[in-house]
Amino acid sequence: MNLLSSKAGVLEMSRRLAIKGQAFVDGRFVDAASGETFDDISPRDGRVIARVAACGAADVDRAVSAARRAFEAGVWRDQAPKERKKVLQRFAQLFEQNMDEMALLESLDMGKPIAESRLIDATVVLDTLQWYSECPDKIYDEVAPTGPGQLAMITREPIGVVGAVTPWNFPMLMETWKIAPALATGNSIILKPARWSPLTAIRLAELAAEAGVPDGVFNVVPGFGSTAGKALGMHMDVDCIAFTGSGEVGKELLLYAGKSNMKRVYLEAGGKSPNVILDDADLQAAAKRAATAICFNQGEVCCAPSRLILSERVKDEFMAILVATMKKIRPGDPLDPASNMGALVEKGHLESVKRYIAKGREEGARLILGGDSPDVGLDGYYLNPTIFDGVDNRMTIAQEEIFGPVLSVITVKDDEEAVRVANDTIYGLAAGLWTRDLSRAHRLSRRLRAGSVWVNCYDSADCTVPFGGYKQSGNGRDKSLHAISKYTELKTTWIEL
Ligand code: NAP
Ligand code: MG
Repeated sequence: MNLLSSKAGVLEMSRRLAIKGQAFVDGRFVDAASGETFDDISPRDGRVIARVAACGAADVDRAVSAARRAFEAGVWRDQAPKERKKVLQRFAQLFEQNMDEMALLESLDMGKPIAESRLIDATVVLDTLQWYSECPDKIYDEVAPTGPGQLAMITREPIGVVGAVTPWNFPMLMETWKIAPALATGNSIILKPARWSPLTAIRLAELAAEAGVPDGVFNVVPGFGSTAGKALGMHMDVDCIAFTGSGEVGKELLLYAGKSNMKRVYLEAGGKSPNVILDDADLQAAAKRAATAICFNQGEVCCAPSRLILSERVKDEFMAILVATMKKIRPGDPLDPASNMGALVEKGHLESVKRYIAKGREEGARLILGGDSPDVGLDGYYLNPTIFDGVDNRMTIAQEEIFGPVLSVITVKDDEEAVRVANDTIYGLAAGLWTRDLSRAHRLSRRLRAGSVWVNCYDSADCTVPFGGYKQSGNGRDKSLHAISKYTELKTTWIEL
């Protein structure tokens, strides 16, 4: 029987977990140079589950040197593409053999329900590893049509040493979106996972090494953003930073690049995504999806549809379905396979979400559901699904990313107002649009300024499809062959014939 199918099984497995908290540098587990560690606290119950190496500038230096050495030696980038493919396929297989453990580590570390970390996070990580493992020997270069006297080749070469700085909301998933294409194209990597969720990153590096990724090619330096993250961003020998996280930190990384070596900086930042419900929408489907999507991952989702932009003509009917659906979503123990919502990542974050809820009330929005914490029988960081009605798009709760299960309902008169309000944000990560009219769907989806537009669905995803943002939601794209361009330089070579 699968241990993850019952709560008793999950608890049994968690008791047997051997959690590793050291850094992984040059193919080996190591302590931080300073010997310092930090406590990794599980948001499920507030308990310390690991002591993790608190890496700083000296450790980043050591990891960058190892990465550079491996890159210059060509142990990875100069392997025949089909050999690199085999190693990456083995990495994917090893991940598959350890998926239950990875899902459990993730749920313990950052509070998402175990059923989701297994069926969504771990499953998508596996798919991403498999997809990119196929790339090395399937990407061709180009010859330009210059004429008979000359040959101009356009080739892609690995960029070199890639620093990845990642968030805690989908830790191993966001990490794999960067690691898999960076490895497939022959780079060396230093990954700095978020302090709240370093465990799966460390294990990923161990699995990669076991699969045959050479020493120094994939390093993990857990630690704080202000120390390890900054050291990576400022490092003179890092060629590219691949970042997912808040816009605020993304802007810091752009500054670091400007102050150091002009390294490429690719940002996947936050969002305040509109979900537009037109008057001809399938209201059942739209309302149910609006409810489940804002509660998914406790609302800690970059593309969460946190602004519901609702046609006043269908408001009453829609709201009745929305509220009834959201009432059924109850936070529970992340280690219970029956839970469909878990704990927020840490105490300070729960407090921040609650401050936004207080702010919403102060600014005159109407709290019609939730806003408080449930008693799940554990000393963790839980919050009930929350709805504000009567929200004006200029209110703080409609402009700032809350990163919790808090939905703002904004009522509009017509399509023009819907588009205007939808685009009235500094962000542009994603948007939803619900209508039965095909022409209206095409017309309006073009006008929504967002990297992903979901029509009559939300959160649809596949490794073949790029993901990323317009405006202050970032630059560059994760996933698909488009991600390859971030981890390669374009070279032109002219040959006089
Ligand atoms: P965050 O606070 O920006 O942190 C992201 C990463 O940056 C962490 O590893 C953090 O380290 C590090 N960091 C912090 N300060 C730094 C500095 N001065 N220099 C270098 N690195 C630094 O974001 P988060 O709270 O972890 O994640 C939530 C955010 O990520 C939300 O805004 C969400 O929308 C966004 N996100 C975007 C996407 C997307 O694809 N667009 C996907 C998921 C999440 P520490 O945590 O250790 O301080
Ligand atoms: Mg944690």
